[in-house]
This record gives sequence, C-alpha cells and structure tokens, in this order.
Amino acid sequence: MTLGGYANRIARINLTSLTVEYDQVPKELLRKYIGARGLGVKFVFDNGPKVDPLSPDNLMAVMIGPCTGSAVPMSGRLAIVTKSPLTGTITDSHMGGFTAARLRWAGFDGLLIKGRAWRPVYLVVENGTVRIEDASHLWGLGVRATVRALQEKYGRENTSVMAIGPAGERLVRFAGWLNEHDRASGRGGTGAVGGSKNLKAIVIIGDRSGQPQPLPERKEAFQEAVRMGQKAIMAAALTAPNKGGLSLYGTNVLMNILNEAGSLPTRNAKESHFEHGEAISGEAFREFNLASEPVCHACPVHCKKEVEVKEGRWKAKTESMEYETAWALGALCGLGDREPLVYMLDQCNDYGLDTIEMGVTLAMAMEASEKGLTPEVINWGDAEKMSELIRKTAYREGFGDILANGAYGAACLLGDPDIALSVKGQAIPAYDPRGVQGIGLGYATSNRGACHLRGYTIASEIAGIPFPTDRTVTEGKAELLKTFQDLFGFLDSMDVCKFASFAQGAEEFSAQVRALTGFDDITPEEAMRIGERVYNLERHYNNLNGFTGKDDTLPKRFFTEPATHNSAGMLSQLPVMLEEYYRLRGWKDGVVPEEKLKELEII
Ligand code: SF4
Repeated sequence: MTLGGYANRIARINLTSLTVEYDQVPKELLRKYIGARGLGVKFVFDNGPKVDPLSPDNLMAVMIGPCTGSAVPMSGRLAIVTKSPLTGTITDSHMGGFTAARLRWAGFDGLLIKGRAWRPVYLVVENGTVRIEDASHLWGLGVRATVRALQEKYGRENTSVMAIGPAGERLVRFAGWLNEHDRASGRGGTGAVGGSKNLKAIVIIGDRSGQPQPLPERKEAFQEAVRMGQKAIMAAALTAPNKGGLSLYGTNVLMNILNEAGSLPTRNAKESHFEHGEAISGEAFREFNLASEPVCHACPVHCKKEVEVKEGRWKAKTESMEYETAWALGALCGLGDREPLVYMLDQCNDYGLDTIEMGVTLAMAMEASEKGLTPEVINWGDAEKMSELIRKTAYREGFGDILANGAYGAACLLGDPDIALSVKGQAIPAYDPRGVQGIGLGYATSNRGACHLRGYTIASEIAGIPFPTDRTVTEGKAELLKTFQDLFGFLDSMDVCKFASFAQGAEEFSAQVRALTGFDDITPEEAMRIGERVYNLERHYNNLNGFTGKDDTLPKRFFTEPATHNSAGMLSQLPVMLEEYYRLRGWKDGVVPEEKLKELEII
C-alpha cells in the first residue's frame, strides 16, 4: 500500500524479549485517526485501558503524523502517547525541534514500545530499522551528558537524541523526555514511563537521502496548500517573523498581558497579579538574557528563546524560557529574578522534569510550609531553596521524594489536597481561571489533566484569535472550547505546532492533509469530526478508568477566593459552562454514551 505522507512502517518494540517487529497501519485506521496523537490514542486504547502506567504492559507510542518532516509549515512535532503515571488518564505530550522530522526521514510513522528491559537500553532508529543497545554506561547521567555521549558515538549530523534524565530513571511522576535542543515532551510523566521500561534514550538517524521519502499524493495541490500556509504565517500578527509578538518574545510575550489582566496566578494563586511580573517577562528576557533564537523543522517563526546567565551563582545557558516556565517557577512561587529562573530551567531540562508541574509543586510546598505542614521551611521566592528542592525531587532525596509525586500527590501526602492547583492530578498552567473563564472550562474538561493545549481559548479570550471574546463572561465559552479541542485533536494528529492555529484554521489544515495523503474526503468539517473522534476516544479511555463528571472540576480556591487586581472579585463560573459543554458534546455527566461512540464510529 502506498499513501502520500506516510512511511507506511511502524516498529513494535518489546523490551522484555528485546525484539523488534515491523508492521503497517491499515489505511482505514490512518483515515480515521490520521497519525501522531490520534493514532497513538487508538493504539494505547487497544492496548487496554486498565494497565498500570509503570508496568511493562503499558504502551509508550512515539508517533508522528503524515505532515511531519514535510514542507507543511511548523511540521516538526512528535507525540508520546501513553497512560500517565501522574494522572491515570491517557496522555499525549509533544516535542518540537528536528526529532520528529528525522523519525519520518528514517522511515517510520511511529515506534510502539512495550515491556521492560532487564538492563538499561537505548534504541537506534536508522534506515527503516530499530536496534536495541546497552545503555548501562548512560544510566545515571543527565539529559545533556546522555545526548553528548550518544552524539559522540553516532555523530551530530542528521542525528537526533531524545533522552530521560535522573528524574525519569527514578520514576518521578512528572518526568519527561528531552532532545538535543532541550525540546521537551514535558507533561504527564512520559519520562517515568520510559524509566519504568529501562529505556534511557532513542537515537534517530535520518536525512532525506537514507530512505525513499513519502511524496504528496497531489503534488500541485500540496504545493499550493503549503504556500497558503506560509503566507498566512508570515502575515499574522502573532507569528510574522521578527515582527509578531510570538516571534520576538516567544510565548513569554504573555507575561505582561496576563499580569495586567489580573489573570497571572501568583503565590499559589492567592493573588492574580505579580508585582515583579515585568522583570520576568519575554521583553525583559529578550533585553538581558537572550542567547539565540532556534527553530523547529519548517518553521519561520523562531519562537524558541535560548537564554543565558554568563557568570556568577546562576551561570547557565538553556532553551527555552517559555511563559509557562517563567510563570510556574517565577510568579507562582513569588520569584521575580530572571537569573535563578534561567538556572532552574536548566536544572529541569537536564534532570528531565516538567517545569510546569515542578513550579506548581514548589508553590504548593511554600503554602504548605506557611501552614506548618512541611518538614522544612520553604519561603516564597527563596531561589536557593527552590533549586535545592528541584535537585532533591529529581533524585527523590528526602523531602524531594514527596514532591516527586507532583503538586496533587504531594499535597495529599502533606494532608491538604486543596492547596494543589491541579485537575485530575496534573498541575494547571499559567492562566487564572477566575479572570479568564473559558480556560477554566478547558482545564476542567481536559482529558490529560489540567492543560491549556487541549483547547487554547486564550487565543480568543486574550489575543482575539480567530475572533475576540470577553474573558470575563461565560456565554459562548463551551462552544468556543469544543471548537478548539476538536481542531487541536486534528492538528495534533497531523502533527503540526499549535501556534500554526494563530494564522490558519480547519480549512487550511484539511487542505494540507488532503493534498498530502490523498484522503480527498477530509473537508474542514470532516477534519473537525476527526478531532472530535480523538477527543471522545480519549474520554472513553478515561471513563473506563473510572473518570466521570466529578473529575471535571477546578481547585477549590478558584471557586472560593476571588482574584485580585484587574480581575478583582472574580471567581470561576465553571458549573454554568460545564452544563452547556456536556450538552454540546452529547456526554452524560462527563461520560461518553454508547450512541455517541457509535455516531463517531469509535465502536
Ligand atoms: S512556533 Fe515555535 S514551537 Fe512552533 S514550530 Fe515554530 S519554533 Fe517550534
């Protein structure tokens, strides 16, 4: 079978028996789930929802989509889909850079990894084959040293290395995978799943010359679709290279905007405005700490901001100071000093930790300390203490062993779960759901625990894309969120960077997939339906694990303690939006009924 866009090859890797088999994905399955997130969710679902996330039976699917590595703008994404040890839900976490493109060029659509090796191993993916190699000499190393050692052996040219650090090896529940450019599959604990399999790294060697590359099915239509996409990105207010806010300042362009709106959760969301916000904004990092502006495959935007502290206690150089990181380790912990933030980001990158969960966990610990619940004192904004606790968490030393459970798990152990800013066990990102109503509904209904990337209503509520909505009202937010969630279900399956949606929509994305794959019936409406199918299958997986409407909620604080500053007095109005959302989804109390599964051809 040939099909434009796909390598038509997946590897099934069993680390217990140290064997690799090669397979094809049936065309009907590709048409229904496209690739990356969608196809990965289908594989993980078929593996059985009841599996223990840290057992050899859990499937870790490393997936790319038909657009990956092609000329489609921003098509350098790779999804790790698995059952999360942090939340017990299904999760998918996407990494940028060039790793994804190299996996396509090495001749694969995905790697399906199961089992547990009897000793540490790494994979080498090259020319349509996968080898399993001994990683005993790498075990215990940070991500950087692991990458360096493997690059020395396999070269830098055409090679990408993704690895776990000490946190993944020690099964820290929010450990992630990082590649040679510090791009992270950060959320949901996919690194701990790698650690549980004794899988230290994946080396991917691939350029366009090694393997026959999949060609677009409709060449001229594809070139036109790519041209249209590029044109839109070059012209859009946020993405225009060297002009748009995202291009100039990275995602941290949001710091001053959310702070001004009184929607920047501060000191564990006891406040929603940070007096030192400007000092840790994208503008300030650009002025004082910018080292370089790297990109991902086929992206003109350069949103990544490598930052540097050249000397002194906090000397470090690392990618990328995202808004979420500057917020989680900064405002949320009461820290307004850029230099330790650079250092701590570097620590998290090398240990292989999700910066969002780490920051929210530390902020929770600071509040717990105020209440006398912690074995040691942790003051707001104490950078030395934070840095020490990040290291202890990665190595599960002392109090770090408690923090290694993430904000919610650690708060439960400390005896006060209400102070964890988490949904379904995963920490919230950097937008206060009291001052921005729609995103609160997004956190509550996200299938992988609190998340802004399932349905980024912020685009509309803050940036006015694709049309402006009032952040303070609830009307229309259920429909807005559902539209974003379904669109992203499709986009994550292509797999294209979410920021592409600041310039394009279902029309452009479906045209790219149509021309590439030859699936001519994927209209914009059908693209949305595919996204809806993915979202419902994830929800069904979670339902089979016992998740219901009771889990679609927010931390208590957002219902009982009003926001401050320019959102003064506001509380989340989640229940109003949730009722409307369930009606639009056709769900009953957060559960997908059988007729909906049939309607979407899931069963
Ligand atoms: S916008 Fe940023 S994250 Fe997205 S593909 Fe471009 S450089 Fe990578």
